[in-house]
Amino acid sequence: MNSILIKSARLIEPDLNIDKVVDILIKDDRIEKISENIKENGFDTIDAKGLIACSSFVDLHAHLRDPGFNYKEDLESGTKAAVFGGFTTIVCMPNTNPPIDNESVISYILLKAEKIGICDVKVSACVTKNRAGKELTDFYKLKKAGAVCFTDDGAPVQEQSIMLKALEMSTLVDSFVANHCEDDAFVKEGAFDEGAFSSVYGLPFRPSYAEEVMIARDATLSYHTGGRLHIQHISSALSIDIIKFFKEKGANITCEVNPNHLALNSFAAFKKKTLLKVNPPIRDYKTQEALINALKEGIIDCIATDHAPHAPHEKKHPIKGAAGMLGFQVALPIMMSLVKDGIIDIKSLIKLMSKNPAKILGFDNTIKEGALANIVLWHPNHEWVFDEKINPSKSSNSPFLNSILTSKVFYTIYKGKIVYKYLG
Ligand SMILES: [Zn+2]
Ligand SMILES: [Zn+2]
Repeated sequence: MNSILIKSARLIEPDLNIDKVVDILIKDDRIEKISENIKENGFDTIDAKGLIACSSFVDLHAHLRDPGFNYKEDLESGTKAAVFGGFTTIVCMPNTNPPIDNESVISYILLKAEKIGICDVKVSACVTKNRAGKELTDFYKLKKAGAVCFTDDGAPVQEQSIMLKALEMSTLVDSFVANHCEDDAFVKEGAFDEGAFSSVYGLPFRPSYAEEVMIARDATLSYHTGGRLHIQHISSALSIDIIKFFKEKGANITCEVNPNHLALNSFAAFKKKTLLKVNPPIRDYKTQEALINALKEGIIDCIATDHAPHAPHEKKHPIKGAAGMLGFQVALPIMMSLVKDGIIDIKSLIKLMSKNPAKILGFDNTIKEGALANIVLWHPNHEWVFDEKINPSKSSNSPFLNSILTSKVFYTIYKGKIVYKYLG
């Protein structure tokens, strides 16, 4: 029998209003006992003094690049990167090759992830065949095969009648549609935000109204159909106002923000160039502030990393390089910097990174006796360098590479097994 005793961890469980130092005994894949003093009885013991214990993180938005782009990342390196960051449930996006618009790709991913066995990989399926925006996929079949939601992330659904049908279908199969909201008409070849960097280099830009008009459209359609809508990686102040308005009207809407959008603003593009390129783009300081305030106000439901590995040659061109950056590895340090700045408290961090995304996916991850032992133990103040040596991803496209970050996952436990241990 597999037994692990976690000694003296500060357990924070917002669902039960618990914040206290306890011992946690794990037997096989379950939490056997939570108590103030459990005797060491030959169990494998983790000295967790100074560490926070909470239910491991859940990410609704990750690109694992498998199948088709395994030179950037694959299910093995991707799940290793996830558990490095404290995530044990992640939803992979369907822009693979072939795309996830049929049952066989779903089976391939689920079987391979299960065999690797260190993280629960959930699959999002395409809204439209080949993500081409023309013809809906078979929601019934894909849901039955294991899809947890539908999205054409990166290739937003442009045609409004298709989005209407997608929301209606998602209701019928008891699922939801996640959309990357950017209207193609306004982002053609655009790379960075409208602002200083684009002006200096004379670049076509990706304005915030490209996002705002599509969020307004999708929220309106969700309001009328009752279809569940999840808005991905919001990046504008007006988007927040639109979402707030529709939430207050009772629309079935949730939204996520990418930690990179909280930590960075477009000034960093002068130094980081294409490493800062992501869609929708990192915008100015005022937008960054608005996103942080929305987090504080509770308008944002969850954090999602949009973990998007790319190979060095794809990022090489200082302006035309591929869009996207790593996410799993830096999410906790970024969110903890907001805690240190007094913007959110640790309980809110745990809700944003673990509790709320689990609720959106429809599962309970309360830490209690008898529950599945999916636990992350992390040090709130530990400083470490995010460099090539420590990075488990196949790619290293992050503006934070070679930076000193504060707050580190020390152990990630998945179904009672230690699947990541920080070796210092
Ligand atoms: Zn996207
Ligand atoms: Zn994405």
